[in-house]
Amino acid sequence: MTTIRTTCSRCGDVELSTKDIHLELTGNGDEGTYRFSCPACQTIQHRPATHRVVSILLATGVAYDVIIDAVPITEAEIGRFVAMLDQDDWFGRLVASGG
Ligand SMILES: [Zn+2]
Repeated sequence: MTTIRTTCSRCGDVELSTKDIHLELTGNGDEGTYRFSCPACQTIQHRPATHRVVSILLATGVAYDVIIDAVPITEAEIGRFVAMLDQDDWFGRLVASGG
């Protein structure tokens, strides 16, 4: 079991396992917040998750939700998406972008 070290606002450094952490991704999915119940004082802690933290947590297999911003997709965005699909190298560019 992977051990994840983080900090509790009351207790300082604590160690958790992947099942103790729940990640919420926002925006384009590379940042967000994570929450956990401190194993020492039992309080629910919320921490910001930077791109780096998100990468680490996902790699260790924590559960996550994607929080969709309530911003509707515009016709211009759909148009750009369709135009990208029409290009032969869209998959290569997707891989190159890390997505
Ligand atoms: Zn604590």
